[in-house]
Amino acid sequence: MLKHNLGYPRMGAQRQLKKACEQYWQGRISRPELFSTAKRLQEEHWAIQQQAGMDLIPCNDFSFYDQVLDMTLLLGAIPDRYAPVVTEVAENAEIDLYFAMARGYQKDGLDITAMEMTKWFDTNYHYIVPEFTEKQEFRLFSGKVFSAFDGARHYTGHTPKPVLIGPVSYLLLGKEKGSGFHRISLLNRLLPVYISVLQKLQAQGAEWIQLDEPFLAMDLTEAETNAFKQAYQEIAKQCKGLKIMVATYFEGLKENTSLAANLPVCCLHIDLTRAPHQLDAVLAALPAKTSLSLGVVDGRNIWKNDYAASLGFLEKAVAVLGEERVMIAPGCSLLHTPADLDFETDLDPEMKSWMAFARQKLQEVYELHAILKGNDALLQVNQAAIRSRSESPRIHKPEVKQRTAAITNADASRQSAFPQRQQVQEERFHLPLFPTTTIGSFPQTDDIRQLRAQLRKGDITQQQYDTAIEAATLTAIRWQEEIGLDVLVHGEFERNDMVEYFGEMLDGFTFTRNGWVQSYGSRCVKPPVIYGDVSRPKDMTVRWTKYAQAQTHLPMKAMLTGPVTILQWSFVRDDQPRSATTNQIALAIREEVQALEKAGIGIIQIDEPAIREGLPLRKDDRGQYLHWAVKAFRVASCGVKDDTQIHTHMCYSEFNDIIEHIAAMDADVITIETSRSQMELLEAFAGFHYPNEIGPGVYDIHSPRVPGVEEMVSLLQKAAVLLPVRNLWVNPDCGLKTRKWPETKAALENMVAAAKEARSLL
Ligand code: GLN
Ligand code: ZN
Repeated sequence: MLKHNLGYPRMGAQRQLKKACEQYWQGRISRPELFSTAKRLQEEHWAIQQQAGMDLIPCNDFSFYDQVLDMTLLLGAIPDRYAPVVTEVAENAEIDLYFAMARGYQKDGLDITAMEMTKWFDTNYHYIVPEFTEKQEFRLFSGKVFSAFDGARHYTGHTPKPVLIGPVSYLLLGKEKGSGFHRISLLNRLLPVYISVLQKLQAQGAEWIQLDEPFLAMDLTEAETNAFKQAYQEIAKQCKGLKIMVATYFEGLKENTSLAANLPVCCLHIDLTRAPHQLDAVLAALPAKTSLSLGVVDGRNIWKNDYAASLGFLEKAVAVLGEERVMIAPGCSLLHTPADLDFETDLDPEMKSWMAFARQKLQEVYELHAILKGNDALLQVNQAAIRSRSESPRIHKPEVKQRTAAITNADASRQSAFPQRQQVQEERFHLPLFPTTTIGSFPQTDDIRQLRAQLRKGDITQQQYDTAIEAATLTAIRWQEEIGLDVLVHGEFERNDMVEYFGEMLDGFTFTRNGWVQSYGSRCVKPPVIYGDVSRPKDMTVRWTKYAQAQTHLPMKAMLTGPVTILQWSFVRDDQPRSATTNQIALAIREEVQALEKAGIGIIQIDEPAIREGLPLRKDDRGQYLHWAVKAFRVASCGVKDDTQIHTHMCYSEFNDIIEHIAAMDADVITIETSRSQMELLEAFAGFHYPNEIGPGVYDIHSPRVPGVEEMVSLLQKAAVLLPVRNLWVNPDCGLKTRKWPETKAALENMVAAAKEARSLL
């Protein structure tokens, strides 16, 4: 019964890789220094895995930026626009070409854009999207996987298991440049190169090779199904003697079970943490010689494994297949978990005893094996920790459970339908046509950030901090009045982050010191941990919003983060459905909304930028998700009078396919990101006859570029053709916290001018 790992987080427990890469980009360290940090990190991680007793240790899971980009370089699928860089850095600086593809290249008169980035399935990791042309050629280009293999073997003294993205998933992860073909048709050209990589590894001495094929657990077309069959038959034919393990994760195989089980490979890996029910069907479908790797330890979360449950799966598999054909592993690569719980010196000890980070998860794989071999004591210790968590009064609050159980449909409905609300809101606010507003945050300057650092260190008092934040807020209000915005915001200067700020004030959340997870490239996020029933012991935003409203006669829009976004950007409980946790957060936000209303605030925005990214990977599961997600938003937002105006905001995603559900959220106003697509998204809203008010973003906030008045006027005119003018708002694409003041001021002045001109043209 082999124990193995699918991949280890590469940043380092102190984010050493982030720091080294950023220093290299700034020219502050040399290439050899960057490589020596990378070498040290890989060796550290191999040592950890070896000490944890892994029989197969992965290599090539390390990456300077992204494992999909590594594949693109390995297979030589380098877009033509990088040709000058290829020539320039050809000699020994493959890494500079690699970073150019990831981040763009501006040097020596060249200005080449980066490759596109998108989310890795339903994680918060972003990968670099391969670009394929109809005439795409592949060739063996990068030698990274071969040197990783040699390095790992030399360091560990054992034969490591190289990890690659399988050929079919690699193609499916990419995007066609140009029309008239589907990327899956490139398989015939990809396979020979791919097979030469495998043969080369075999010649080097590789025994096992892990090919990640997460698409086997997604909805597949017939052509994609056939591509899997063709690719693996060809690999089996041309790489005799090589032990191929096909790894699936993030979902169950479902209707692809027979396809996956019958691929001519040595081992199939399935993720039982995400899809426990697939085990029986897979066991029944597996042919006589194939092994099964059981992913029993959750690679997407920070909770301790419940050994009793995992042992149930393992024993069942052993009974059917025999020990030799069963392997134990985490569900997916540990890339999506923080590195090492031992670095959490500040965490409450009891809570810490409920958690496991990457290093501890490997220990769990080891212990599960030991228990199967008879070490009962390990099981007892684990079950005691699991029991302490399941019974803890710190987690379970009967009053919270009662309140969520008592949510009714009436709680999820406004008093009147939108047309009546629109009328009373018009009477209350007297806004002009094309009313102008912003999405919430204003520039988080170094001064503001420093204030928070000083408060944390105790260098300034809470009162000094509050006074400084009030001053920043007041300045922002005066300035908004001066340039003539219609609905003001307070600027969110008091917030570190739109989820953390609320998590810190809600019960049921805790925070780690080093719980970093890679988001993209050198960027890491540190998600809050939702450990228990969520409730709201005190007001969260009322003080700042009230202060801001008291400074102006114009309407001040309050800012909240929605329940689905708070859930989506946190580590969540694994002991209850996501929907149950979301409902608890929804009730907490509802109370805040009501407190704001009571404090005299007339307009309240509840941001839900992450509602689209929570969408399940399999189409069949989407309806159910959308139902509870939309309902949670409604519970959060509907406890107010008709003349209180509820806004929501969404960005970063394509919403075309869920517009009817967005409409069902029934926010009085929605602001969305549209400027980069030249209002294309708005056409989808128009096509649906979106009934409520809507503010299509008229300029992109991701760059310092100041948009001209005329270009925004023309966008507004375009919008006015698509939707009733009465329903249109004028605003930027998203919040402005990453911008600097000069461009923010110039852009918003132009935006107000554009709104005025659009009014005059009516
Ligand atoms: N209100 C938030 C802000 O303005 C919204 C951020 C977001 O959509 N991601 O920063
Ligand atoms: Zn946004």
